[in-house]
Parts: sequence; structure tokens; C-alpha cells
Amino acid sequence: MQNEWREGRGESRGEMLVRRKGDPELSGGAEMKIKAGGTGGGELEKETLMMELNKLVQKMVKESSWWERRGLDCSILAAAFLCLPPAFLLLSSSHVVWFSVGMLLMAVAHGVIAFKGTHLASHGALSESPAWGQFWAVFFIEVCGSFSAPAGIQGHIKMHHAHTNVIGLGDSSVWKVPFLPRTVYLFFAPLAVPVITPLVALGHLKGLSLAHVVRTVLMVALGLYSQYWLLIHVSGFESPLSALLCMLVCRAMFSVPYIHINIFQHIGLPMFSPTRRPKRIYQMTHGVLNLRRNPLLDWIFGHSLINCHVEHHLFPFLSDNMCLKVKPVVSKYLLDKKLPYQEDSYFSRLGLFFHKYQELMVFAPPITELVGVQ
Ligand SMILES: [Zn+2]
Repeated sequence: MQNEWREGRGESRGEMLVRRKGDPELSGGAEMKIKAGGTGGGELEKETLMMELNKLVQKMVKESSWWERRGLDCSILAAAFLCLPPAFLLLSSSHVVWFSVGMLLMAVAHGVIAFKGTHLASHGALSESPAWGQFWAVFFIEVCGSFSAPAGIQGHIKMHHAHTNVIGLGDSSVWKVPFLPRTVYLFFAPLAVPVITPLVALGHLKGLSLAHVVRTVLMVALGLYSQYWLLIHVSGFESPLSALLCMLVCRAMFSVPYIHINIFQHIGLPMFSPTRRPKRIYQMTHGVLNLRRNPLLDWIFGHSLINCHVEHHLFPFLSDNMCLKVKPVVSKYLLDKKLPYQEDSYFSRLGLFFHKYQELMVFAPPITELVGVQ
């Protein structure tokens, strides 16, 4: 059934009223109210909320050292690269335990570099200099992530961040594969991510200049071939097939949670119409969810993709560590202003997506209108 959202009016100023027809959670077209204090006072006050929060965050950024702003995250990425030589050496062992440790070490290092590194680099969060920012974007996205830097930046920054949860623009529908059954989508298809990623990158080369195309193909090939070459010459893999299989296992080890986190934090939350989108602070607080802290996920994907996703969408220029530092201030501010601050655990979201797969991942999402704040 095609869901339809209707506009209603809150009984008092500062209260948003959201109504959805045909929502199984809201029987008989019942109304769902979202309290949004601090909205009285019109247009000016709506802008002021974001400006006020921005001031608080900018003050914290100014008072932070380089280590806090960038150093810690750059060091985590450097540590991931330093794990690679021992990983290649451990993979040369004939002892099953050491070989497995090598595999795990390489998978974790690859995860940190390809997920956390690629994400921070796409935001230019690794360096203050634009030239270095561009260099790191190409290095992380193309060499390490096997994707096209212009396509990655266009999709993530210019669409997902600029139009978060706006239908047809940043609605996370690129992650939906409705013809796949839920078990295949959630647990098996993500294992193909390392193979699909460079193929999708090739598809995105259409329309780019010849120089961009040549660079991307060379950089992606350099990343893949250097790992293959080291597995043959340092780890001593005897057949090309075994080296390729090892690459696939290491690169796919964390692709299941990678797909999960990309859908858990936006899909199922309010989606907005391109013509009646709410102000940025409402768009981000209603359309973004934080996952609870989890040491493994925090390290591999970074705080901005896990427990500080709301902060990341409000302040996308901050590094992972700075998102974590401003989190208490941002969450307190939003709660004080009676704005949503959505949090859930990874496994609770997994249960939700498993049980409501059809509704969340197959059917078209309904549109939310935040009445009184648009
Ligand atoms: Zn981002």
C-alpha cells in the first residue's frame, strides 16, 4: 500500500504533529506527535538553534589541540598501516594459529583504512590543507577503497550529507536491493562488496574527463595489485587463486557490519519531501540515529559512523575524535531543546531490520512532515 503522510497542526506552539496514513504502528491513521520545544518564535528562532549549537561546538574546536582535532585519528590510521608488515609476515606461516592471526590483523587493518580512512578522507577531515585533502581523498578512496574519489565525494558529501533522508536525493535507497531475500541481503550479499565496489567505480567513470578515468583505473589497480604482489612475494602464496581468496576474505570480513551500519542509521527514520524539507537541525535530529558504543565498530568505522553519527551529520567537518568530544554538549543541547536524540544498539537495529525487512527495505518509504517547524 502506498503510504501517505498528512499534515496536522499541533495544539500548541512548539509542538510538531506528524500524521501518517496506513502506518501499521499507528492504527487507523492515528497521529504521532513529536514534541519540539524551542520552535516558537518563528523562522528566526529555528535558525538560531543551529547557530547557537554551532557556536558551542566551534568554541570547543578552537579550544582543542591538533592532537584532538586530527592527530589521534591520523595516528589510528597510521597504526593500521603499521599492522600490515606483520600481517603479511604472519600470513607466510604454515602454523594455522599464526596464519589466522595474520588474516585477522590484515582484515582489521584493511577495515580501519578502507572504512574509517575513506570516510574521513571524503570529508577532508584528515588535513587542513585542501591540496593534502585532495591527495588523501584519492589515496584512501581509490588506492585503499577501490572506488572513484569524485563519485564517492559526490554520493556521500553532495547527496547523502546535503540531502539526508530527502526522498529521491539522500534517502539511502542506493543501499536497497529489494529483490534479495532478507537473510541473503543482511548476511551473505555484503560479502561480495570487495568485488562489487571496483565494478561500481567503473560504472561511475562515465562522463568524467579522460585524466580522471586514467587516474582512477590506475589507482584502483595499484591498490589491488600491491596487496596481491605482497601476498605472493612476502607471504609466499603459491597460487594466484589462493592469494585472491585471501584478499577477498580480508576485505570482506567487515563488509557485513559495513552494510548494516549504512542502513541502520537512516532507513526507518522520518523521510522528507524535496519540496517541504525541514530546517537542517530538524532534518538531522529526526533523520539520523546513533548506534551505541562498541569498541570493535568504533575502531574500524570511526565514531562518526557509529556512536556520533548525529554529531557527524550536524558537523560533518569534524574528525572522529572531535565528534566524540562534542557529543556530550550536542546531546545535552538537543535534549534541553526537546529535540530528538536517537540512539539504539547494533543488535536491536539488526533485530528490527530482520523482522521488518519488507517494510523497511522493500516498500517505498513514507514521507514525514514536521508540522510547525517547516
Ligand atoms: Zn559522512
